[in-house]
Amino acid sequence: MKIAILSRSSRIYSTDRLLQAAHQRGHQVEVIDTLRCYMNIASHRPSIHYRGEKLTKPDAIIPRIGASITFYGTAVLRQFEMIGTFPLNESVAISRSRDKLRSLQLLSRRGIGLPVTGFCRSPDDIDDLIKMVGGAPLVIKLLEGTQGIGVVLAETRKAAESVIEAFMGLNANIMVQEYIKEAKGADIRCLVIGNKVVAAMRRQAPPGEFRSNLHRGGTAEIIKITPEERSTAVRAAKIMGLNVAGVDLLRSNHGPLVMEVNSSPGLQGIEEATGKDIAGMIIQFLEKNVELNKPGTRTKGKG
Ligand code: ADP
Repeated sequence: MKIAILSRSSRIYSTDRLLQAAHQRGHQVEVIDTLRCYMNIASHRPSIHYRGEKLTKPDAIIPRIGASITFYGTAVLRQFEMIGTFPLNESVAISRSRDKLRSLQLLSRRGIGLPVTGFCRSPDDIDDLIKMVGGAPLVIKLLEGTQGIGVVLAETRKAAESVIEAFMGLNANIMVQEYIKEAKGADIRCLVIGNKVVAAMRRQAPPGEFRSNLHRGGTAEIIKITPEERSTAVRAAKIMGLNVAGVDLLRSNHGPLVMEVNSSPGLQGIEEATGKDIAGMIIQFLEKNVELNKPGTRTKGKG
């Protein structure tokens, strides 16, 4: 099979692992720099050009589109979909998952457990919004943030008001969320491929910190998850329309709560914590599903 990996660089751990795994399983594979793809969308025959040449159609594409280039990256991926390449995750699902608020709205509509979350625009509504999510302590999140940046724990109502006002003054979009204290600075990353959680790790924040992001000094270890956590993670990925996803859960007193569904989960943390060959499993998923999705046999991916 001919596989393309859409990524800025083959030196990134996840990209390199996918490259190696595809090679090992006997596929023809190349890394394509997302920002060096350009496209012809005006004609009846859409095409993709790369560094001066027209690309021949790969059978499958693995999008690894960074948050800062979501707009251009999803446009490039859509173009691959138009020429008939099977995407590991579809462009529409990636766009959906990159909008944190839209994701929570979709998950809430389907009854997935979520931390109580509020969203408002006018400073006049801050007071009631804080009440609505149950008062302080609460978590304030920049909608555009990643890797824990722009996620603030406000211990008191006064602090919450000041932080929300400050963000609003900068015209930043924020959401306000119930603080899940009983999670004790830990969250669970479930790696979903198809209909299965293939690996799970518990990330623990360092002392004095509530954010468990590995980029913020969190530590990771393998964990056995409950059947409820397993089915919540699989359902969340499915609702977002993602074949492969990193679903982040908080363990609350009333069951698992989904914090986020990531469409380009990093492989380093989870492979190191669990010792599993996630990159190999992703390539195997493509092997099964590219055949199923050949024109005329298109059914939604299984396995
Ligand atoms: P990002 O997408 O930037 O990583 P998250 O929403 O995942 O931001 O938050 C970063 C970390 O902060 C999470 O991994 C979790 O440990 C902690 N956290 C986020 N929201 C809550 C919450 N409502 N209650 C408790 N802890 C939270």
